[in-house]
Amino acid sequence: MHDVMEGYYENVIDSVGDGVIVLDNSGAVTFVNPAAEEICGVSRRQAKGKRFSSIFSGSDLLLEMVEKTMATGMSVSDHENVVMRRGGRVVPVSASTSPLQMSDGERGGTIVVLRDLTKVRELEAAVRHADRLSSLGTLAAGLAHEIKNPLGGIKGAAQLLEMELPESHEMREYTRVVLKEVQRVNSIVEQLLALASPGKLKLDKVNLHQVLGDIILLQKHDTDCRGITVHQFFDPSIPPIVADESLITQLFLNLIRNAIEAIGEGGTLKVTSRIVYDYSMSQRGEGRARLLAVDVADNGPGIAEENLEQLFMPFFTTKPTGTGLGLAICQKIVSEHRGMINVDSHAGRGTVFTVSLPLLQ
Ligand code: ADP
Ligand code: MG
Repeated sequence: MHDVMEGYYENVIDSVGDGVIVLDNSGAVTFVNPAAEEICGVSRRQAKGKRFSSIFSGSDLLLEMVEKTMATGMSVSDHENVVMRRGGRVVPVSASTSPLQMSDGERGGTIVVLRDLTKVRELEAAVRHADRLSSLGTLAAGLAHEIKNPLGGIKGAAQLLEMELPESHEMREYTRVVLKEVQRVNSIVEQLLALASPGKLKLDKVNLHQVLGDIILLQKHDTDCRGITVHQFFDPSIPPIVADESLITQLFLNLIRNAIEAIGEGGTLKVTSRIVYDYSMSQRGEGRARLLAVDVADNGPGIAEENLEQLFMPFFTTKPTGTGLGLAICQKIVSEHRGMINVDSHAGRGTVFTVSLPLLQ
């Protein structure tokens, strides 16, 4: 009976999602459950019988907690600043230590409970990002409102001045600059507003190939001047999608503009549409979801590895006169359409941005 129960309790502890490590009174490891093996990157066999301090020498805080519990018999709970090093990776962990009380009232050792906080931290980071965006949004909306009115005044005055000047007057150069720069500030304000505005989609049936074709045509003057070859490969079986046409236009215009700006002179821009199947985005228990994928590919300089993470952050730009708002807006539009945007880029070899949007069956 005793043995059966022992096996039973061992199964219970093995099945707990938190890592459990038990030490005897001398500080030697007597038990490690699978979750603890996973969190610490140490196998049960490696750890058993070894001194705890020799196995976890990298985590000072955890050693201190264990020492305190061993010395005083007191619990130390939920320390959130513990980190484990697992194969070169740092794992954030919350740890608790408590004394193991035997039935005769003696202390039989120390129990260490560990919880992997990686997912929690990722979620917190996502929430912080969303928070930052929404407070940026409120600020931007207010600011944009304040800027737009005086900007309208400047524009009107410059236009009046231009009308007063004779056609060939040298001062016309200055009014032209004023009007051009007003236009630039206006477009930054518009982009900020686009990023800040709460997502209200005007849904309609959209012919995606028409949208993409129009954008490419609109850029034709620029691509011709730069000697950029444009290829389009559209899958004709793709049905119209339900989407907000003006936002979808803005999305692909931003991506195509970025590709053109990255290429500079010469080079090739390739826009492809295709249907893909995805298991992770299935809805209502269907086996897999049917998605529409659009690739915008260029053979420009590519994106440096260290920039990949910040790409979608507002104001991240490597261009002298860039706003860094384009991709942030793209990401917002894609997520409002319940899609995904991915980037695949290698420095020196070019860049592919892929937008996937759900297709109704
Ligand atoms: P902006 O175009 O104003 O710089 P974006 O948000 O559109 O802002 O882009 C942010 C940055 O991402 C760019 O400054 C550039 O460094 C990088 N980037 C975007 N698209 C590409 C691309 N196709 N090739 C290389 N770098 C790119
Ligand atoms: Mg851009």
